[in-house]
Amino acid sequence: MYGKYDVLVVGAGLYGATVAYCAKKSGKSCLVLEKRAHLAGNAYTEEIEGIQVHKYGPHIFHTNNAKVWEFANRFAEFNRYTNSPLANYHGEIYNLPFNMNTFNKMWGVVSPSEAMEIIERQKKDCFFENPQNLEEQALSLVGRDIYEKLIRGYTEKQWGRKCTELPPDIIRRLPVRFTYDNNYFTADYQGIPKGGYTAMVERMLDGIEVLFNEDYLQNKEKWDKFADMIVYTGPIDAYFGYCLGALEYRSLRFETEVLDMPNFQGNAVVNYTDRETPYTRIIEHKHFESGKGDKTVITREYSKEWVQGDEPYYPVGDEKNTELYKKYFTLAQKEPKTVFGGRLGEYKYLDMDAVTERALLVFRN
Ligand code: FAD
Ligand code: UDP
Repeated sequence: MYGKYDVLVVGAGLYGATVAYCAKKSGKSCLVLEKRAHLAGNAYTEEIEGIQVHKYGPHIFHTNNAKVWEFANRFAEFNRYTNSPLANYHGEIYNLPFNMNTFNKMWGVVSPSEAMEIIERQKKDCFFENPQNLEEQALSLVGRDIYEKLIRGYTEKQWGRKCTELPPDIIRRLPVRFTYDNNYFTADYQGIPKGGYTAMVERMLDGIEVLFNEDYLQNKEKWDKFADMIVYTGPIDAYFGYCLGALEYRSLRFETEVLDMPNFQGNAVVNYTDRETPYTRIIEHKHFESGKGDKTVITREYSKEWVQGDEPYYPVGDEKNTELYKKYFTLAQKEPKTVFGGRLGEYKYLDMDAVTERALLVFRN
């Protein structure tokens, strides 16, 4: 262990695991440090009652990139899960993303032209040429009814801020379709690795030395001597000791329960889009897989403000934080042998496919 390595990878999430795999494959020696007690970062899954439980929130692999899909499939067989979350607004159930099933339930319309007509009418009262915040963006996309029932409460709970104080681009991720199609992602490839993400990352890191419960920043000077190149996937501001101030995140709290019943909610993901329900969604993990078995495991997900020491989940991409990130990025470019990558290293809302793609690219370069 105490020899010199070609690459030291900080973090055993998908970004770190991809880089480590590529390093080993090209004949480089590699050491991975992980401050948690497990692999796979936020995609970590743990088996409970024979069900793969997504411990840090539901993770569905989806991509339009055939190379990334082929790469992921080297380490796992994927099932054919298609993400089709539901929204529960005070007991009314709506399909997501916003599509003809949603519009039919909301207004009783049957044809796309009827749905478009209602949305266009509602947009007339509240259309913004150049939306300045999430509320203006949402109203301009789908009109008042959908905004009030399916967006406002959920978003304000999730981000802990008023929709008028959030950037418009958060909502641009959500598709609006005039077909009866509940597939949440517009992706050519989609699925969940059979046996879970942890087993998948284990295969990526096969034959690579990984040290768990090891926080690189606690012993940075020591570890820096271990390798010629460092790939750091932790928070960029933590790396620099928060010298310019702390970047803000949203954090999450998960309450997981084993229930003595075979089926609790009939779907993997149900979002609670009203303001009153304190959690944002309930995940029933078995529906990501076969759905079989006498028991079920559910997780209530609560969004919370991040304070130092909490897990940083979602970078807050507002103007203030983006400016601060740019300053850290300038410092990062001056680090002679360290590459910053992944969701925390780049302070960007990146899905797993994007993280994989970027890690493959960084390695190639
Ligand atoms: P991480 O998974 O965060 O891994 C970084 C690792 O570095 C962690 O294990 C951490 O412990 C370790 N680390 C940090 N600092 C140090 C240090 N100082 N020393 C040692 N180790 C350190 N993506 C999708 O594609 N589909 C989804 O459905 C999806 N759902 C999501 C749901 C939620 C609730 C969240 C939060 C994210 C979701 N994502 C989803 C995004 C996905 O989690 C990320 O794309 C992916 O985990 C990023 O991988 P990463 O390696 O960059 O970061
Ligand atoms: N959103 C919403 N209602 C929903 C689901 C999502 O208003 O039922 C909004 C919300 O603002 C959220 C954004 O759409 O932040 C993006 O949602 P997505 O599910 O793509 O993001 P993730 O769960 O990955 O954060």
